[in-house]
Amino acid sequence: MAGIYLHIPFCKQACHYCNFHFSTSLRNQSELVAALGKEIVLRKDYLQHQPINTIYFGGGTPSLLPAEALAFILSCIRQEHWYDTEAEITLEANPDDITEENCRNWQQMGINRLSIGVQSFREEELRWMNRAHSAAQSVEGLKIAKHFFDNISIDLIYGLPHQTQTQWQGNIEQAISLGIPHLSCYALTVEPKTLLEKKILAGHFSPVEPDRQSEHFLLLMDLLENAGYRHYEISNFALPQKESRHNSAYWEGAHYLGIGPSAHSYNGISRQWNVSNNTQYIKALDKDQLPYEQEILTPVQRLNEYIMTALRTDTGIDLLKIGDYRSRLLRIADRYTETGHLMKNEHHIWLSKEGKLLADGIAAALFKEA
Ligand code: SF4
Repeated sequence: MAGIYLHIPFCKQACHYCNFHFSTSLRNQSELVAALGKEIVLRKDYLQHQPINTIYFGGGTPSLLPAEALAFILSCIRQEHWYDTEAEITLEANPDDITEENCRNWQQMGINRLSIGVQSFREEELRWMNRAHSAAQSVEGLKIAKHFFDNISIDLIYGLPHQTQTQWQGNIEQAISLGIPHLSCYALTVEPKTLLEKKILAGHFSPVEPDRQSEHFLLLMDLLENAGYRHYEISNFALPQKESRHNSAYWEGAHYLGIGPSAHSYNGISRQWNVSNNTQYIKALDKDQLPYEQEILTPVQRLNEYIMTALRTDTGIDLLKIGDYRSRLLRIADRYTETGHLMKNEHHIWLSKEGKLLADGIAAALFKEA
């Protein structure tokens, strides 16, 4: 079981909070698509011929690419990799790109899941984030998308400065009432070198308030649980059978190949990451070179990575998967089971609702020292 992630590094405009790799100039689009095709060919052995069960177009904004470009990329994968015909193929789409014609094209080329960057149903929040779409476009886009796809996810962001609990509740309830089967919800984070950070440092925006974000997260968990969603990963909620297969495979440690500038790959031995620069990426591929750096993971790094990702899931850490570190981990975990932040049974350790508020800190405390 393996996956392919494709990074499409173009966006219409820069959202204030975003630190992903993208360009707002579409000038190099056709050269970049050709380079993606070449990288797919040059790296056909990376996954050691494991069947590809999931393909994920992320970015950036993959829905900006013309249908022919997306179809070309998929045809390269189908030619070069052992491709499962039942594969989950996800396209990240922004609401303003969702038209009947685009949906029909995406469906015809085999895309069977949309992950839609809604972020908020409130116009003033979208303007504050500098999103390229309006709240009305999100609702309209979702209506169209539902005619073509039954596997739809939306992203929502909470914990904005000035966002009240009632406003956040309105966003969640709107997603529930629209029957969205999968939600990915993230607390707003202030990333270095983003416009958001500059505006906060200059005093133009208020800083985010961690306590308010915790309240939003607790409300989110309660409302979605009552609406029948499974909280299967710390930021992800799904109605029955609508979990993302691609992301679940990451968290289970499956291997994946990342194609495109800034994309990461993992094959159980090494982690690789491509150059985060469109021009350098295109030039390297033009010379049949692969522009990546890599690190070979030590057994302790692999163990800690497993602890970190497994703890974020609702199944938690499988004690059979951590070898002789089990007794040491159980001793550390006792501190958190006593406070009610961790739960455990004979085989697993997982986070309680309150524990999920402190997930990163608890994971770090459970890490094995090198
Ligand atoms: S559309 Fe997505 S990738 Fe592009 S700037 Fe906004 S958040 Fe970042």
